[in-house]
Amino acid sequence: MKTEIKLIKNGKRLDGRKNDELRPIKIEAGVLHRAEGSCYLEWGGNKVLAAVYGPREAVPRHTQNPLRAIVNARYNMAAFSVDDRKRPGPDRRSREISKVISEALENIIITEKFPRASIDVSIEILDAEAGTRCAGLTAAAEALVDAGIPLKDIPVACAAGKIEGEIVLDLGKEEDNFGDADLPIAIAPRTGEILLLQMDGHLTQKEFDKALDLAIKGCKTIAELQKKAILEKYQKNMEG
Ligand code: ADP
Repeated sequence: MKTEIKLIKNGKRLDGRKNDELRPIKIEAGVLHRAEGSCYLEWGGNKVLAAVYGPREAVPRHTQNPLRAIVNARYNMAAFSVDDRKRPGPDRRSREISKVISEALENIIITEKFPRASIDVSIEILDAEAGTRCAGLTAAAEALVDAGIPLKDIPVACAAGKIEGEIVLDLGKEEDNFGDADLPIAIAPRTGEILLLQMDGHLTQKEFDKALDLAIKGCKTIAELQKKAILEKYQKNMEG
């Protein structure tokens, strides 16, 4: 049975946000010393670490593609990242998220530059509070930039959804649990190309269009934070 909970009170969402407002986001690039590239990202109550390993020769060798690199993103939710305590290791949900993120990244990395190679991206969800696939993909993209891997664009992700009949940006935990629909997307911000689009729940065509527009706006705001974080890393390196 669905618990009834009021998600909008006096025109404001439970955490006080407006309908088109993102949760606070903090991005830091280059946080790990031994990975080729890395990123730590906080997005509302989500805490995510992403790290890149490669490009390196793909093993086992039968996985190699003679024309381009393969991209393996592995999304993992730590056992301590959620209230219920999650059984450690991969499950159906994390396999699905790993697959959609790998495909999104594969479309934006210039993989032809690294035939027979593999580019591995680890995404560790340390604290989860809804929207972890978007947070994970956004962190992974930043880690790829940090690793100096040639990209056509810097992918970025954000969700919009529907709560109490209204279209809102970036669902929080209760909104995700008790809301009507969630539409996470990832785009290439320069061209607007959609790299990932999933939908949970129901939206009419009109609502879908509105949610998509809002999610794209969210992506564009976050894209600026990604650029700022990478510039900050280089500034820090120059000072240190
Ligand atoms: P996303 O994190 O991308 O929104 P879902 O919609 O599948 O993906 O999950 C929504 C939220 O539900 C997660 O961010 C997390 O807070 C919570 N959650 C997901 N899986 C579990 C789990 N196995 N146990 C407890 N909470 C979970």
